Amino acid sequence: MRQRPDRGEVATYIPELARVDPQAFGLVVIDADGSVAAGGDSDVAFSIQSISKVFTLTLALGMVGDRLWRRVGREPSGSPFNSIVQLERERGIPRNPFINAGAIAVTDVILSGHQPREALGEILRFMQFVADDPSIAIDERVAASEQRTGFRNSALANYMKSFGVIENPVDFTLGVYFHHCAIAMTCRQLAKAGRFLAHSGRNPATGHFVVQPERARRINAVMLTCGHYDGSGEFAYRVGLPGKSGVGGGILAIAPGKASIAVWSPGLDEAGNSHLGRIALEALTKRMGWSIFGV
Ligand code: GLN
Repeated sequence: MRQRPDRGEVATYIPELARVDPQAFGLVVIDADGSVAAGGDSDVAFSIQSISKVFTLTLALGMVGDRLWRRVGREPSGSPFNSIVQLERERGIPRNPFINAGAIAVTDVILSGHQPREALGEILRFMQFVADDPSIAIDERVAASEQRTGFRNSALANYMKSFGVIENPVDFTLGVYFHHCAIAMTCRQLAKAGRFLAHSGRNPATGHFVVQPERARRINAVMLTCGHYDGSGEFAYRVGLPGKSGVGGGILAIAPGKASIAVWSPGLDEAGNSHLGRIALEALTKRMGWSIFGV
């Protein structure tokens, strides 16, 4: 897989991400018994970017429950991840928690009642808890790089603020958002972090219930329908699993009851999803018969 020449384009709009080696490729599968299959650069940390939104969604649902859905929808957007068009028509309520506008609104919910540093600490600790790995950290250079150039996210946040959808000062909310997107993880850490979603809310490694089974099922549903932006239909068609991509080139995919899978290849397709990552997942699910839609 890593020899394939058709790798897509590395994200350059966050300058620090443009420095990543486009040849990198890693894949980790952890099955229900905890057996780990790892290949390629599976222990190289990369910027998880929007994959962090799965975990901020989980955290925000834990804090405010279903009230979260007053601030953000759960329908696919059919628009690029950083699009602003739909916000005007729908009065500042983002379509779903995975497009940038929706994730910024979710971050704002986590921030309310806290200082930005506390909220960020909470998100990072949650990530360390679900991955059962206290060494997970934020790549400050990536965060600073996005903070300097994130004009579009700033526009989204200010626009939502005008509708009263953002409660906190926009710079605070964006600061926390840019930093959680800049969490660096390896495929191995990410696959560990996803295990609770593959096993009805419980991480089999620690025995901890991270969320109730119903919530895990629903987060998986949102990943399936919205996790790849306007490439979500194609991902469901080809891979057939709930998945969440990030512009760092990572994808977390969940085979319910069977496995948690993380793949990383930095080259992206037009929708901003890892090109080779998707191809690798398609081959894997086909081989294993893991698509939720049947073999
Ligand atoms: N931090 C990135 C942004 O806001 C996340 C986008 C992504 O991974 N799709 O643009």
